[in-house]
Amino acid sequence: MPNLKDATRAADTAWQDDVRAGVRHVRDLASLPLLAAEREAAQAAATLHKVRAPKSYLDLIDWNDPADPIRAQVIPSPEEMEEAEGELGDPIADHEFSPVPRLTHRHADRVLLFPTYQCAVYCRFCFRKESLTSIGRGYTREALEPALAYISGHSEIREVILTGGDPLSLQDTALAEIRARIEAIPHVRLLRIHTRVPVALPSRITPGLVAALQGRLIVTVVTHFNHAREITDATEAACRTLRQAGFVLLNQSVLLKGVNDSVEVLEELCRELMYRLGIKPYYLHHGDLARGMAHRRTTIAQGQALAEALRSRLSGICNPVYVLDLPAGGGKVPLGPCHVEGQDGQSWRIRGLDGEVRTYREVVGE
Ligand code: SF4
Repeated sequence: MPNLKDATRAADTAWQDDVRAGVRHVRDLASLPLLAAEREAAQAAATLHKVRAPKSYLDLIDWNDPADPIRAQVIPSPEEMEEAEGELGDPIADHEFSPVPRLTHRHADRVLLFPTYQCAVYCRFCFRKESLTSIGRGYTREALEPALAYISGHSEIREVILTGGDPLSLQDTALAEIRARIEAIPHVRLLRIHTRVPVALPSRITPGLVAALQGRLIVTVVTHFNHAREITDATEAACRTLRQAGFVLLNQSVLLKGVNDSVEVLEELCRELMYRLGIKPYYLHHGDLARGMAHRRTTIAQGQALAEALRSRLSGICNPVYVLDLPAGGGKVPLGPCHVEGQDGQSWRIRGLDGEVRTYREVVGE
């Protein structure tokens, strides 16, 4: 019977093999079944934003379909070279709100902590792609010291959000070390992890990774599924492992033209997230103003129509909130449809999910 050490070693080998067999460098694009012109365009676009995808994620692509939604998320396309007026290098002002390296403090009770600027998969739509390229560094203990000292010195901070780069692309020892340093700060109550790993590299969700994250703090893992085609037996097993470890699972999707901008696709995604993976659909993001992404952005009106349709089709627990992360640090604001048609004193006119406007009279005690 294999012992625990052997099982752990096998689990670690599996995800590392998956990474090694995938695309890790621009030159690896040559191994994909792309037409010569597509390959050249992808290689050119990859000079602006790195390219990387594990083999198991690439295996989800239908290469006969040029509009395949998985392909659209990871294979560079020539449109990325076109910068539209109004697009931004740092769409939500991470740098402006960064008092020390590797940390953003935009809202009083929480901070973003960047243990690494590297990811297991580089998503073409990433709004941090310019930081990933320009900073690009991985984890070192020393690099995180100023950020940890900042958190220690600010007792109003309750949540630490490990974000990307992808924190779950780190080794278990690094994750355990970071978790221990954060939980030693008494005023921190919650550890949040924003990650694409359960989507694109589910074999990385190993017993060793889970053990590295377990400790004093409530752990919330915020995944980033954008299409139901990303939900497989492997992602189901990974999410079951995370749930059974006691972690809270939420998902944020980004609304992407040509990937998930139809009510049927979003409806299936949200249902499968909740019913198959046990992940609460949390946010549906309007596409940020990342440079070279105009071809993947919808209009806000289209997003609102989708959000309204989802509201009437899905139960509350399956429904994400459609939000825009405002530039210049304005935060995430809901953009979903408003059902209030008017008010006269205590009498409100409110449109129901069936489209009918009803009068609701407030009854409030003295
Ligand atoms: S994994 Fe996250 S941080 Fe990394 S490229 Fe994708 S969206 Fe950006």
